[in-house]
Amino acid sequence: MNKDSKIYVAGHRGLVGSAILRKLEKDGYTNLVYKTSNELDLRDPNQVNTFFKEEKIEYVFLAAAKVGGIVANNEYPADFIRDNLMIQSNVIDAAYRNGVTKLLFLGSTCIYPKMAPQPLKEEYLLTGELEPTNEPYAIAKIAGIKMCESYNRQYGTNYISAMPTNLYGENDNFDLHTSHVLPALIRKFHEAKENNAAFVEVWGTGSPKREFLYSDDLADACVFLMNNYKGNEIVNIGVGEDLPIGELAQKIKEVVGYNGEIRFDTSKPDGTPRKLVDVTRINSLGWKATTSLEEGLVKAYNWFLQNEKELV
Ligand code: GDP
Repeated sequence: MNKDSKIYVAGHRGLVGSAILRKLEKDGYTNLVYKTSNELDLRDPNQVNTFFKEEKIEYVFLAAAKVGGIVANNEYPADFIRDNLMIQSNVIDAAYRNGVTKLLFLGSTCIYPKMAPQPLKEEYLLTGELEPTNEPYAIAKIAGIKMCESYNRQYGTNYISAMPTNLYGENDNFDLHTSHVLPALIRKFHEAKENNAAFVEVWGTGSPKREFLYSDDLADACVFLMNNYKGNEIVNIGVGEDLPIGELAQKIKEVVGYNGEIRFDTSKPDGTPRKLVDVTRINSLGWKATTSLEEGLVKAYNWFLQNEKELV
């Protein structure tokens, strides 16, 4: 990318897209386009095609997606598979039809088989059954990867796919019903502290392990890949370390400064037992995550405190 290349960030108000936009602005990229979902409904192929035709976009960060935590994925499986298939198909196809130079598609580590060996290597894709709680979402993301690969093969495009691990940071979803574990726990511990509650309920057994990447690190990796990577192989983005949910809860409790008890609600699902990515590929390309979990948690909690009033 040149500093004046026309760059479209799809999903710029979300956790990932907003971090990519901040990173591009910080790095001095000046020709950026982005639209809210009210201005441009990415599920509508006509709107998407017209937009690409008019804007003459050169680079696309495809960070628009319908995302959610374990309960949301379980309750709205149709919305997750439909919206994601529509958004990504429309954007990838419009990129091809309108001569986009390069596109980066963002997937997720839930594309890997539930029982795959850990850490998850890129080649484990499509080697086993998926975790049932988010299978529709994962299938949509796998379709996106295969679409990028197929367009590259048939049409000679330059579309790459990155698989970030669990993310957190600014503009995260803090809604207790639909969010992922980390923002949910920030909110739960904060509210428990404010209300002097005796305990905080953490879903599941606390033993599943997860890895967490700060959104600014992911944005850094995405810009790095756009500038330095070409190929059909998907690329994991993570920190290469994970921890049990129970330990995460303990860390968040300390960052928030809550003194009560942690209770596990085992009527809620645990989901996949472990989801740690192998980061050998991205490390060997020359990129490494730099924000520690401790540092990231403090930043994420500060962002929450500054924006609490506007959150639903
Ligand atoms: P996953 O990584 O796709 O399984 O999605 P989540 O981030 O929603 O959940 C990760 C793990 O954290 C699961 O074992 C959840 O049961 C557990 N968890 C504990 N407390 C919470 C909570 O308050 N919200 C969510 N979303 N997950 C929680």
